[in-house]
Amino acid sequence: MEKRKGCDVLVVGGGPAGLMAALHAAKAGAETCLVDSRPVPGEKILLSGGGRCNILPLTVDPSAYDTSSSPHTLRKILLSWPLDEVRGFLENAVGLRLIEQKRTGKVYPASGGGEEVRDRFLAALRRSKVRILTRTRVTDIRPFERRRVVVETGPGIVADQVVIASGGLSYPRTGSNGFGFRIAEALGHRIVPPYPALVPLLSGRFEHTALAGISLPVRLEIGDGREKKSGTGDFLFTHRGYSGPVVLNMSHQVTRALVSGKRLAVRVAWLDRVESDWEHELAPSRGTVRGVLKSALPDRLGDRLLEELGLWESTVASLRREDRARLLRSLVAYELPWADSAGYREAEATGGGVTLAEVDSKTMQSRVVPCVYFCGEVLDAVGPIGGYNFLWAFVTGRLAGEGAARVP
Ligand SMILES: Cc1cc2nc3c(=O)[nH]c(=O)nc-3n(C[C@H](O)[C@H](O)[C@H](O)COP(=O)(O)OP(=O)(O)OC[C@H]3O[C@@H](n4cnc5c(N)ncnc54)[C@H](O)[C@@H]3O)c2cc1C
Repeated sequence: MEKRKGCDVLVVGGGPAGLMAALHAAKAGAETCLVDSRPVPGEKILLSGGGRCNILPLTVDPSAYDTSSSPHTLRKILLSWPLDEVRGFLENAVGLRLIEQKRTGKVYPASGGGEEVRDRFLAALRRSKVRILTRTRVTDIRPFERRRVVVETGPGIVADQVVIASGGLSYPRTGSNGFGFRIAEALGHRIVPPYPALVPLLSGRFEHTALAGISLPVRLEIGDGREKKSGTGDFLFTHRGYSGPVVLNMSHQVTRALVSGKRLAVRVAWLDRVESDWEHELAPSRGTVRGVLKSALPDRLGDRLLEELGLWESTVASLRREDRARLLRSLVAYELPWADSAGYREAEATGGGVTLAEVDSKTMQSRVVPCVYFCGEVLDAVGPIGGYNFLWAFVTGRLAGEGAARVP
């Protein structure tokens, strides 16, 4: 440690954002170091996409991201590196062969999954002469000291510019434990209160555990009035609650409101049907309500809804008007009995973070402390599943790496 030379650019964190930042800083001619607290950087890359690593989306839609900062700034940052150029860089400079999955709109490495992605990045860094220090936890950044990067053990590291790419709070076992938020705040930045995103919801009704494994398309509506948001996609009952793409993609609405003490209602339209669709099913008015539900919904789900409504035995013809109304509500606006989110341990991403207003959107340089740059999940932006979060990490990583290297 004592013998470490200083570096022009020191990148804290070797996730997708830090790897990209270090590569660009080195390519721009800066003597670059990358430090990571874990034995090998990029642990989240290994877990991503169920091990396959959904590295990019096929198309970019800036409005799919969530931020409390300016959506215009987010858009400007995101579109600063066109998707086909990001892809070209991954293929040519990093050496990955990528394949498209048109059906889902996702891009994956052709072979090797996350491990291939991480290893190719590390090899590219070595080729670019980036010094990689693992098992090195940064504990403080002191802009006015020569050894401005303070590490857990040994003397600090001399660095002219520091890129903070230490991620958010999700999956803390991969090394991201909120360091970036703490240090940014200590340095005088405004942090949008973080919240778990892309996270399953836990059920408050234990009877729903019997529905585990059922998957079906739905429309989800979260919140009321002007705050209402809706989305469609596959919904999955799990042993502990609710998941599937539509729940993951919309869960941040729930968790962000929870941070400010609000509990939002989550309503489900099973099969993404509207009332008139079900009215049509019930119109023949023959047979039992159970029979009608069975013909459309998974058996266990139909039975559960009828049990909750107390309409187990009812025939369609004998349904009283108010029971019919309750039945329809339960089919198109079922109030999901969620108790909580599964929290950061299971959240694939973290919303909130360093406000985009306090970084220069061309370089990711802090407007508060000029020798500091931010990239990746530490910033106030989070995308849906589908490669959007890697894309954000790559785009901001490139800007930060090049920005930090450009300082004379
Ligand atoms: C299970 C799972 C699956 C996912 N799948 C996908 C997917 O398929 N596609 C997609 O686009 N996104 C996916 N994501 C989200 C994506 O992985 C993250 O958005 C992305 O990794 C964030 O990149 P980052 O570089 O900002 O932070 P991270 O990847 O969190 O990296 C931060 C790094 O900083 C290091 N660090 C933290 N604090 C310190 C410190 N004090 N000192 C030194 N080092 C430190 C950590 O060890 C870590 O290596 C997934 C996430 C999870 C958890």
